[in-house]
Amino acid sequence: MTANLFDRLCGTVADPAKIAVETASGGRVSYAALVAWSGRMANALVARGLKPGDRVAVQVEKSLAALVVYLATIRAGGVFLPLNTAYTPAEIDYFLSDSEPVVFVCDPASQADLQPIAARVGAALFTLDAAGQGSLAGAAQGAPADFATVTREPHDLAAMLYTSGTTGRAKGAMLSHDNLASNAEALRQAWRFSAGDVLIHALPIFHTHGLFVASNIALLSGASMVLLPKFDVDQIFGVMARATCLMGVPTFYVRLLKDARLTPAATKHMRLFVSGSAPLLAETHRDWQGRTGHAILERYGMTETNMITSNPYDGERLPGTVGLPLAGVDVRITAPEGGGELARGEIGMIEIKGRNVFRGYWRMPEKTAAEFRDDGFFISGDLGRIDQRGYLHIVGRGKDLIITGGYNVYPKEVEGEIDGIPGVVESAVIGLPHRDFGEAVTAVVVAGTAAALTEAAILDALRPRLARYKLPKRVIFSADLPRNAMGKVQKNLLRSAHDGLYG
Ligand code: ATP
Ligand code: MG
Repeated sequence: MTANLFDRLCGTVADPAKIAVETASGGRVSYAALVAWSGRMANALVARGLKPGDRVAVQVEKSLAALVVYLATIRAGGVFLPLNTAYTPAEIDYFLSDSEPVVFVCDPASQADLQPIAARVGAALFTLDAAGQGSLAGAAQGAPADFATVTREPHDLAAMLYTSGTTGRAKGAMLSHDNLASNAEALRQAWRFSAGDVLIHALPIFHTHGLFVASNIALLSGASMVLLPKFDVDQIFGVMARATCLMGVPTFYVRLLKDARLTPAATKHMRLFVSGSAPLLAETHRDWQGRTGHAILERYGMTETNMITSNPYDGERLPGTVGLPLAGVDVRITAPEGGGELARGEIGMIEIKGRNVFRGYWRMPEKTAAEFRDDGFFISGDLGRIDQRGYLHIVGRGKDLIITGGYNVYPKEVEGEIDGIPGVVESAVIGLPHRDFGEAVTAVVVAGTAAALTEAAILDALRPRLARYKLPKRVIFSADLPRNAMGKVQKNLLRSAHDGLYG
């Protein structure tokens, strides 16, 4: 066995007849069939020129066939590059020009728009639709199932994922076979995954959460997954009686909580609910435990590092924290200025080191060098603190920290207070340039249609709850907040939109 991640995921299955993936439409594929299918697909890709180290970019709807493209690419030694289905042709143009794939797979519906872009970057174009049909499926069908998995070294690239672009232009994070294999193994152990598990897979597969955390762990464990096209409350309730684990983003849990079917009986067969990608409100955690008896397990990760920390499987799952470092992952908190390590309890920059940490940003050597310390720690860009018990608390992003009149203000704290005011739908707190204060705390608030909220009313409600320096200097009302394709609020756009507010 080589370091090829494919061997780890599909090469050592105890029972080849075991069902690896089920689909919502009733499709069932055994591990043996998955290996054969990936062989056909790998042969089809290689026939179109794929060589080890080449990128295979895909922008397709979630399907079992799309998952097989991932497996086939790494099996052939290629670098899998999934792109968010929400990206426009102009965005695809940027990503393809930057990454120069040899193969690009798109939905048949966008073929006309994307064909010229693929042609310009010299990528062979294939199509694949939500039902798994298209020119790639056709090519794979006619290809032999036998394929000798390409030998790879641990540091060779297996995937390249663009970050979500929340703080600026998305960066290509280069991930090696060992980055992915070591993290999947650490999570398998931490979350006690086994061949007896049935995972409800309702996440997109163009992001680290659904592609690596969910799919890799299930395959590595010889478990089964139920691949749903997207999050759908009815479908989740439909499979929960025979599933054991759900991995989701916080909105999954918020939406399931709104459904009367969520009871202890409905979740009796489940052993684990995992949340990540964005902060899970402590309130959601408590409500879920009250309704089902299960404590949601929150974990923390990012595209560049895979998963970093997790609340414990056996120990206490502390609401509002992201838990303890995974096995083999070192986490430390440093002074944002100067970089010295801080004592327990102090807020600073979260830094990470371990086999999970990526190989650098694609074609950005200077940016890569700037984000690593000399001793190999990656500077995450997130601020946090580690409490006395060793649990990590995330305070927000470093770029969003507001320094006003010499005081540090963490937007998350102010947003939490604003969101608690009746009539507020959501808020984003940003720092804007101010002659006297350096930066001025500024709130952008989305109010419910029925609410007649005013700036004065918001400030009156906040005054008894926040220290004076944390109070917004101005409150701006907005119909909505700008979000990127991953649904994360883009504060950089808000900052530039209101740049001159204080003159
Ligand atoms: P970009 O790097 O392009 O600005 P991004 O950081 O949003 O985008 P991702 O890699 O998808 O791109 O997201 C990782 C980030 O998501 C983390 O750095 C962190 O800020 C946030 N995050 C992930 N899990 C959690 C969690 N459990 N709680 C709070 N924040 C989380
Ligand atoms: Mg990031």
